[in-house]
Amino acid sequence: MDEPRCDDALSELYSFIDGELDEAKRASIEAHLNDCSPCLEAFDFESDLRKVIASRCKDRVPEDLRLRIMAALEQVDDQHAVESSEAT
Ligand SMILES: [Zn+2]
Repeated sequence: MDEPRCDDALSELYSFIDGELDEAKRASIEAHLNDCSPCLEAFDFESDLRKVIASRCKDRVPEDLRLRIMAALEQVDDQHAVESSEAT
């Protein structure tokens, strides 16, 4: 089998978003994303992040997208808080 693993999918994520992959590679990453929700979430987040960065240049971020990014960042903060309170 030549299925891409999560590591492979994630390492190609930026090229995938930027449309730099050839057709076959693209299709295999896409198949993995459809199959694997953690990778799909990572992909969604990265591509939304790109949109935010792109739209910041135009001085406007859609409100729902901004809230989504902030919620995602808060989740990361929460995880860090849990980890450090467990460590002490
Ligand atoms: Zn995966």
